[in-house]
Amino acid sequence: MSETNGSATPRRPRTLITGGAGFLGSHLCERFLAEGHEVICMDNFITGSPENVAHLIGREGFRLIEHDVTNYIYVEGPLDYVLHFASPASPIDYLKLPIQTLKVGALGTHKALGLAKAKGARFLLASTSEVYGDPLEHPQRETYWGNVNPVGLRGVYDEAKRFAEAMTMAYHRYHGVETRIVRIFNTYGPRMRLDDGRALPTFMSQALRGEDLTVFGDGSQTRSFCYVDDLVEGIYRLLMSEEVEPVNIGNPEELTIKAFAEEVVSLVGSGSRIVYKPLPADDPKVRQPDITKAREKLGWTPTVSRQEGLRRTLAYFKDRMAVAE
Ligand code: NAD
Ligand code: UDP
Repeated sequence: MSETNGSATPRRPRTLITGGAGFLGSHLCERFLAEGHEVICMDNFITGSPENVAHLIGREGFRLIEHDVTNYIYVEGPLDYVLHFASPASPIDYLKLPIQTLKVGALGTHKALGLAKAKGARFLLASTSEVYGDPLEHPQRETYWGNVNPVGLRGVYDEAKRFAEAMTMAYHRYHGVETRIVRIFNTYGPRMRLDDGRALPTFMSQALRGEDLTVFGDGSQTRSFCYVDDLVEGIYRLLMSEEVEPVNIGNPEELTIKAFAEEVVSLVGSGSRIVYKPLPADDPKVRQPDITKAREKLGWTPTVSRQEGLRRTLAYFKDRMAVAE
């Protein structure tokens, strides 16, 4: 990776983060600035918000550009890294935005890869555990090809990400672009939208308001939740590694959604009850990352316990709700 400008003066790495004003993107912007990079955050704010990076605006080396990455992406000057995180990510978002989700996974990935190729930059794709669909292998290893319903409601997200992985490998194999693929498992933390419909923000805001918690199905489906700081560390290590094949990053501690809801009620200390609502179509029954590869190749392992991660997230949600109400 060239970090000089041809003269004797070394130049700081320049990094583009698409979807940089979203939940994960905003944490990545912070991390790359802290690593001494210049960071260009590009977003069309369809599910994210400039508020997520407001504290970075005016910080030396940070730029925010409003742009829809399904259209041609123009960035002036050199780029060393392109991190492609733009995409609706929560089920209610991508069910409301099916075409935009398919377009950003397909056309957006193509544009971001084209930019990386033109600039000689290393590219990292934010993929997802959803490529495994409703998995028939448990826990999921990177070698598992998945069980996805292409024409189901969630297919718009799952298939967009599967296409994005295929496109990334094609740019690597046919154009020699340096690429990395991270398969992210359920991640939580500050700057999730209170109303994004995902289990954690929904449960926390319900518990804080003293409302009933809405568990879908009988709550026996499982998930494994990773705190955002652990995820960001894994992504940074993957980007700086030589690993081209996909790598799972997630916290392997698995629990049922019912147990998760109970944990949130007890943490908030509210008198909320749990009520049961219909299970959304194709909702995966189990999900747990096998992180052997991340451990061996990246020396990465999650370090933040769920108790600690939930405590930090609760503090954020309390603040947000105080502002909103
Ligand atoms: P998010 O919705 O908070 O962030 C996504 C960002 O992308 C938003 O700021 C949105 O405005 C932006 N965006 C969407 N379409 C765009 C477009 N066409 N042009 C420019 N910007 C666009 O979601 P998140 O949870 O931060 O997820 C970020 C990425 O990580 C996504 O690619 C998602 O698929 C992936 N991921 C997240 C999780 C998780 O648990 N949070 C799990 C697996 C994968
Ligand atoms: N879920 C729930 N109640 C809610 C929101 C979600 O029971 O109000 C369930 C959902 O059906 C799924 C799990 O929680 O089984 C995790 O959902 P989320 O939307 O957070 O992420 P997913 O893993 O489904 O993408």
